[in-house]
Amino acid sequence: MKLTIVVATAKNNTIGCANKLLWHISEDLKHFKNITTGGCIVMGRKTFESIGRKLPNRRNVVISRNKDLTIEGCEIFSSIDDMMENLKDVNEVFIIGGGEIYAQTLPICDKIELTVVDKDYEGDTVFPVINYDEWDVVSEENHKTDAFEYSFSFKTLVRK
Ligand code: NDP
Repeated sequence: MKLTIVVATAKNNTIGCANKLLWHISEDLKHFKNITTGGCIVMGRKTFESIGRKLPNRRNVVISRNKDLTIEGCEIFSSIDDMMENLKDVNEVFIIGGGEIYAQTLPICDKIELTVVDKDYEGDTVFPVINYDEWDVVSEENHKTDAFEYSFSFKTLVRK
């Protein structure tokens, strides 16, 4: 099984505030959809609540310590190890947030599909600092659209 983190960060590493995203960039949502559709997505319970529904055409997995939690259309696992064990036969698992889940999976993931928004944002949730000595940036695309004020880039990082 390969673990791929999919994340969009501000220049200063913030990713969310008050259980919401910090921006609306439709190109990034399309990018996210292209990467994850048909695959298996894993998220923390708070990110599931923030999205508010299961995402279509994907296997939805939620991580929670609450053993009584059930969510229609989602599988619930009680730890990162439990998730890894149950998904070991899946070819590629996409970790889609949020901060707590990223912090625990960054050390063990193989690839990062990273969007960086070229602006500092205030937020209460951050992505851990990436040590670029450990990663090869295998692709990078810069974007600027009329619909969003700041430029952003899509990068793919593969562990060295
Ligand atoms: P998370 O989404 O990471 O969820 C945290 C919850 O996950 C915990 O409360 C717990 O659920 C469960 N959990 C975490 N670790 C474990 C573990 N080891 N074992 C079992 N359960 C675990 O919450 P955050 O607050 O860190 O992140 C949410 C924020 O991130 C929001 O603002 C959201 O918008 C943002 N976000 C941003 C993204 C981006 O790309 N910019 C992408 C995704 C989210 P429980 O309490 O039920 O036990």
